[in-house]
Amino acid sequence: MIIKKIRAKNFRNISECEIDFSPGVNLLLGKNAQGKTNIIESIYIFSRGRSFRAREDSDLIKFGEEGFNIGIEYEDFKGEGSLEYSLYGRERQRKKNGYKIKRVTEMIGSFKAVLFYPDDLGLVKDGPDKRREFLNIAASQCYGSYMKYYSDYKKALENRNALLKLINKGFFVDRAEIESWSESLSEYASFIYLIRKEYLKKLEVYSKKIIIDISGGREELFISLDSDILIEDEERNIIKEEYKRILRSSIDREIAAGVTLFGPHRDDVKLILNGKEARLFASQGQQRSIVLSLKLGEGEVIKELCGEYPVFLLDDVLSELDNDRRRYVLEGSKNKQFIISSCSGDECKGFTDREIDVEGGRFVIKR
Ligand code: ATP
Ligand code: MG
Repeated sequence: MIIKKIRAKNFRNISECEIDFSPGVNLLLGKNAQGKTNIIESIYIFSRGRSFRAREDSDLIKFGEEGFNIGIEYEDFKGEGSLEYSLYGRERQRKKNGYKIKRVTEMIGSFKAVLFYPDDLGLVKDGPDKRREFLNIAASQCYGSYMKYYSDYKKALENRNALLKLINKGFFVDRAEIESWSESLSEYASFIYLIRKEYLKKLEVYSKKIIIDISGGREELFISLDSDILIEDEERNIIKEEYKRILRSSIDREIAAGVTLFGPHRDDVKLILNGKEARLFASQGQQRSIVLSLKLGEGEVIKELCGEYPVFLLDDVLSELDNDRRRYVLEGSKNKQFIISSCSGDECKGFTDREIDVEGGRFVIKR
């Protein structure tokens, strides 16, 4: 799929802009603090449902303005489409092909993009929440129902935690109420668990191959879900019963802690490189290779499950990669749309189809 055009008004430092993209490699070229990441951020909102770096949407409104609106035109194998998103005061509006849509999930399912930005380089070493977030975003692009299960799970989790906290503080709570939340939690957890397992199995196939390519066959990567489920079974009811059993048997510990200690909200993604846990033993270069393989792999899984590549958004990461890895990424850009941001452009010389100068929130196509 490709993005053909973006329009933005009063979004971050952009007063008004309209940019036409090439279906190939697009380079956003500009000095620091000119608006390169801002435009990538605006595009990615259509894929993720919200910004990858703002605390809240109101942070996206240009300082001193009332609101913002952004819109994209894209093309996929089904044809052309458009998405719009705006926020004025408390009024939020999402539109698809000119018609209002209620749910953010309708937007997420329509436009698919993979973002790779400098913060991702911490995916291997940082805490599990970062890998969980990666997994949630990646899975929600491929499995339409995932986000719904996940948000239902989180709501049930909040309710169960509130009850645990009350008991912890000495209040009376009917245990049947806790049981009922454990039931819902286990139901959603079983769906989330199975989707995550399946997703990572697919991702492993591609990421493994990418690591082999980058390292000349020296590195071997295994990816798996690190969860509370220790039985090997793919029957959803059995997984659900297992979650129920775990919650039942750990209720005293959970009351003492005042929170739910087990479930998908505590999962991690296990990355094993050459037989050793990457989080603990991978070198800087190896970590970069793993992250690169996860990001490019994310794109391959979307291609496998949805029938076409997503748009690749590379925000300032090429300069963080060494020559070999950078070449690998750029040579893989055939049949894919890339939107790359850079301060110098040196790192992708000879590979770009369109160059866009970025200065003070304005965008001018140079080539
Ligand atoms: P770098 O190369 O350093 O990453 P960049 O071109 O990616 O730079 P952006 O992150 O896009 O820079 O930010 C451009 C400018 O937008 C920054 O000066 C930032 O302070 C400004 N900015 C951020 N939020 C808003 C806002 N809500 N209103 C106005 N300006 C904003
Ligand atoms: Mg930037």
